[in-house]
Amino acid sequence: MSVLQPVRGTHDLLPDEARRHRLVEEIAFDVARRYGFGEIITPIFEFTEVFSRNLGETTDVVSKEMYSFTDRSGEGLTLRPEGTAGVARAFISGGLSQHLPLKLFYRGPMFRYERPQKGRLRQFHQLGVELLGVEGSQADVEVIALAAHILEALGLKDNVRLELNSLGDAASRANYRDALVAYLSGRKDQLSKDSLERMERNPLRVLDSKDESDRQVVADAPLMQDYLNDESRRFFDEVQNGLAAAGVPVTLNSRLVRGLDYYCHTAFEFTTTALGAQGTVLAGGRYDGLIGQMGGPATPGIGWAAGIERLSMLFAGEAPVVRPLVLIPMGTADAAVGLAQRLRHAGFTVETGYSGNMKKRLARANKVNARAAIILGEEEWARQAVAVRDLDSGEQEEVPLAALEDRLSRFR
Ligand code: ATP
Ligand code: MG
Repeated sequence: MSVLQPVRGTHDLLPDEARRHRLVEEIAFDVARRYGFGEIITPIFEFTEVFSRNLGETTDVVSKEMYSFTDRSGEGLTLRPEGTAGVARAFISGGLSQHLPLKLFYRGPMFRYERPQKGRLRQFHQLGVELLGVEGSQADVEVIALAAHILEALGLKDNVRLELNSLGDAASRANYRDALVAYLSGRKDQLSKDSLERMERNPLRVLDSKDESDRQVVADAPLMQDYLNDESRRFFDEVQNGLAAAGVPVTLNSRLVRGLDYYCHTAFEFTTTALGAQGTVLAGGRYDGLIGQMGGPATPGIGWAAGIERLSMLFAGEAPVVRPLVLIPMGTADAAVGLAQRLRHAGFTVETGYSGNMKKRLARANKVNARAAIILGEEEWARQAVAVRDLDSGEQEEVPLAALEDRLSRFR
């Protein structure tokens, strides 16, 4: 361990990467606003029970991935591994049930103790949405269409595929669970140790196993779609029809389950083949029972979350960079400080080299891709003027100070 290295599974977003990261967030939020979503910012840690009771104790996240600790007054706290439980908790604590339907967007760091790999970190970032208070399938259609729209705005439309499934209502899921357990029970010798345990406690999650032998067993398992009751089937049909009307292409995948326990009906993932094993960029589903189960007023919900690092790796766009103006003082240092402040307050991006002769400062101006240099020569300054050099054309002219902002406006 070297304390000069970032902690395993964490990474620094150095300026270039930070700019991409923020751009991805901004593009996403900009699209989400058009659908009426507003931002919610919840704490990065919560009481451990917010997650342990609600995500499902047999899920990977709760059973082995949480960063939990006891604080100095003995409270059991956990760094949030995902966003939905905290948003649901905030909805209840904030008494927001008077304001339904509610459309919330969030972004920020999440923490999971996992084996770090490309696209898999211990501190990573998600952006996500939650739509609370709508029972009907229009909500499912809208949040999935929003996800597709965001991915399109990021230029990823052709890199991703929407996979969709229905987990049905509780009754459908119970029927399916029985059928699945009966099937798996006959093939215990082929199942991994993890899946044997899942079979006892949460059999649907066997479908999600990444173990090769498990996958072979799962390939012939009964299909959820054959166990949906009429109501669940109708809901699923409505979602598919709505997505067709919204122009969002869908691939049905009846093995798709979600890693957390609170989901029902709609489950979906946008996957890519461009990131190796970490193929899911955005995932979500409907969670009608969650808020009630947490002790709040029964409130339906649906949402999704996307990994910003995974989006960033796929995103080819460039953040627009403002080309600065560079001030070059020639024995007029205080004057340059004053002028730099004046121009920044007027909205210009201004760099002042900190030292060096004219040549060195011009080289630096080149390096920061400056648009123009403003040279404060002593003689010009005595005449209340500066020299402005267009660094693209090389043209230079003398500009009276009084007309400076006006003359510089073409370099914005
Ligand atoms: P996976 O199967 O990859 O572990 P998951 O089902 O645990 O994913 P979710 O809880 O659905 O993931 O999180 C939604 C999204 O957040 C994922 O699709 C992914 O883009 C991102 N994500 C999840 N865990 C990590 C991580 N450890 N590092 C980076 N991104 C992550
Ligand atoms: Mg995971």
